[in-house]
Amino acid sequence: MTATVEEPRTAGQQKTRTARYRHLTENLGTLDMAIVKGKKVEEFSYYVEDLGTDYDDRNGSTNAYRCFRLTKARHQQKPGEPSNYDIQIDPEAESAQHKGHSCECLGFLRWGKCKHVSSLFALIRNGKI
Ligand SMILES: [Zn+2]
Repeated sequence: MTATVEEPRTAGQQKTRTARYRHLTENLGTLDMAIVKGKKVEEFSYYVEDLGTDYDDRNGSTNAYRCFRLTKARHQQKPGEPSNYDIQIDPEAESAQHKGHSCECLGFLRWGKCKHVSSLFALIRNGKI
């Protein structure tokens, strides 16, 4: 039930991201994410709602997308920050950095990639969700 993603080395330290998914009901699970940068470990917990598949040809792709809603665990919710994000994953994409993926978080809007997309993509690729 665990999928590990190692990100390619960028200018700084290597990051290792671990995503652990636990299935609760047919369309609901939990995602525990740990991001290790050197000696620093950040942990994030979400509920994962599987919203099914959708079709979107805005990027010229004819793939069926997997759609999810991640809701932060209550103890990790902060005032002024959204408590959930809707995410679209192209399961046929070659990597987590692909124009077919999308997420509503600020990181994705700014950088075109984020931990939510990377984790869900890795879990799909490893047959976990
Ligand atoms: Zn995101």
